[in-house]
Amino acid sequence: MAHVIIDTCKKDNLCLDSCPSEAIRPGKDEAAWGTVSQLYINPEECMDCGACVAECPTNSIYPAEELPADKADFAEKNAAFFTN
Ligand code: SF4
Repeated sequence: MAHVIIDTCKKDNLCLDSCPSEAIRPGKDEAAWGTVSQLYINPEECMDCGACVAECPTNSIYPAEELPADKADFAEKNAAFFTN
C-alpha cells in the first residue's frame, strides 16, 4: 500500500522535503505544478513511512487503507498522475 493525498491539499509543498523517496510530485520547479490542483504520491515509490502526514497543514494525506469512504477514489487519482 501507499499513502494518498486528497483534494483538500493546498499545494503548500511542505511534505516534499519530508519524503525520503521523492514520491510526492510535482515540485514547485516542475511545469506541472502550475496546472494541478493538488499534489500526488507515486504508489510505486512510496515506502509508507508516514513522514509526510505530520507535515501537511491541511491533513490531506492518508494511508490508502484509511482513506475516508468519500475519498476512496483518490488512491487511483494519485496513481494516475504518474501514468498519464
Ligand atoms: S509515506 Fe513516506 S515515502 Fe510515502 S509519500 Fe509520505 S513521506 Fe514519502
